[in-house]
Amino acid sequence: MSASVALRLPSIDGLLRHPACLPLAERYGREALLASLRQLLDELRSSVLSGQLSAVEISPEVLAGRVGERLVQQQRSQVRRVFNLTGTVLHTNLGRALLPEEAIEAVQMAARYPLNLEFDLASGKRGDRDDLIEGLIRELTGAEAVTVVNNNAAAVLLTLNSLGARKEGIISRGELIEIGGAFRIPDIMARAGVRLHEVGTTNRTHARDYEAAISSRSGLIMRVHASNYSIEGFTARVQTAELAELAHRHGLPLLEDLGSGSLLDLTRWGLPAEPTVRQALLDGADIVTFSGDKLLGGPQAGLIVGSKALIAKIKKNPLKRALRVDKLTLAALEAVLGLYRDPDRLAERLPSLRLLTRAQADIFAQASRLQPAMADVLGEVWRVGAVQSLGMIGSGSQPVARLPSAALCLRPQVSRRLRGRHLLNLEAALRALPIPVLGRIDDDALWLDLRQLDDEPAWLAQLPLLQVAQ
Ligand SMILES: *Cc1c(COP(=O)(O)O)cnc(C)c1O
Repeated sequence: MSASVALRLPSIDGLLRHPACLPLAERYGREALLASLRQLLDELRSSVLSGQLSAVEISPEVLAGRVGERLVQQQRSQVRRVFNLTGTVLHTNLGRALLPEEAIEAVQMAARYPLNLEFDLASGKRGDRDDLIEGLIRELTGAEAVTVVNNNAAAVLLTLNSLGARKEGIISRGELIEIGGAFRIPDIMARAGVRLHEVGTTNRTHARDYEAAISSRSGLIMRVHASNYSIEGFTARVQTAELAELAHRHGLPLLEDLGSGSLLDLTRWGLPAEPTVRQALLDGADIVTFSGDKLLGGPQAGLIVGSKALIAKIKKNPLKRALRVDKLTLAALEAVLGLYRDPDRLAERLPSLRLLTRAQADIFAQASRLQPAMADVLGEVWRVGAVQSLGMIGSGSQPVARLPSAALCLRPQVSRRLRGRHLLNLEAALRALPIPVLGRIDDDALWLDLRQLDDEPAWLAQLPLLQVAQ
């Protein structure tokens, strides 16, 4: 036999009928199988022509195996559960608040059945979706009226556009903040059609600065809770009550973007004080905006609460229709708000509050319990310690406050030069687990903060699958 006899790839039709491919067609559908086969054969064609592949490598059995792997990958959901062991509880990149069972059940109901989303069951007439949660929010915040949109960024945009378009919005230079990515207060103001009138300085703004800025062009005064950073030292900020009095004396509304905006005083659970929505309204803010999935512990949403007249104006803005929430969000939000009616049991029932208030001793006991299993899997190269650590609330709440926590601290026992690579390899291996495990690298170690590890069996069960590249 001459070595020049060229190998030929099997035909698509032949492969589709081949016994090795039949189960794949059955499982993933003929179309998906066909597309993957075509793609694979296209990729292999030039290697076959140049004689780089053996007959075995292009046998139907081997090709079916490769296509099968691709189909498994393609079928795998892109939305994946992870273990958040970063130490940041309300982690924006990891989906922020976890919903309580009550909200999960409400979402299922709303997903499965028709519901009275915009239908008033008492009168049989068309209703308003905000009515579904208005009563609860009024009760919990003392607000006169409420409207809900997709997130707090949308709440700020909609409020500014409804109340200040083509006018000036007065705001302190200390509050012109960026909240991750593309959300910057000056840009949002511009997009809302509000002309920025900044007053004061970065560290100090006084009532007289606001007063001097007020003119016939003014449309509103805005204050933004500097949620993700803190200014310390020689600082001055006007209290909400004083600013509200000043705004009202000049016939202007005061908007307060609280960001996290807690419904209850968190110090009751030993957490750092965060301004409450009720207090901001009591102090005289006309509109308060805050997120649904930060400290509130609910679904992504932006809540706008305040005076009846201003909320009515906001609801008339056509942008409201573009930014409105869907039925799943409203169902979840109502269920979460319902839990707030019983604050005594809130820390047991609301996952975000339960996690934020978990005792350090309890987390430390867990770290000690898991330490041997982790040390066993990692072997000699790593020193595994059960140690105290410091976590964060996250999502911009209390940026300087730290939550005393406990962690598994994984330290590579290698020369300084090799440490970085070892840490990155371990981090990648943890991410490659069936349920990816996300920690944080700090001080030449990988930290797995256990505050949020409540599914210990699932975490332990996948540990033996860990494969760290050397
Ligand atoms: C987080 C935050 C926002 C944005 O809220 P989203 O719900 O993420 O859209 C706006 N303003 C402040 C002060 C915030 O902290």
